[in-house]
Amino acid sequence: MSIKHKMIRAMFGLMGLPTCEEVEQFAYDFLEGSLDSSTMKAVERHLKACKNCQRFIAAYRKTAALVKTFQRPMLDPEFKEKLFEFLVQKAGERV
Ligand SMILES: [Zn+2]
Repeated sequence: MSIKHKMIRAMFGLMGLPTCEEVEQFAYDFLEGSLDSSTMKAVERHLKACKNCQRFIAAYRKTAALVKTFQRPMLDPEFKEKLFEFLVQKAGERV
């Protein structure tokens, strides 16, 4: 983790905003719109300040849209987990 990343994390902590890891965990619910409004706002504020998470959410949204075009009625938990790992890895590669 870079020093810059550490500073950003510390800043988010002070502002009472979720960390990048938390934003990644919220990604699915965030895109589904199923977070409570205060969490939703906190994630949005984080996204405004954090390019890494913007990219992560964009990649996540794209993948989710792709999955929907296959019209899988439901993602089985194992697949969802693999997809998530894949996205985290992809997001990490670009840092
Ligand atoms: Zn972030």
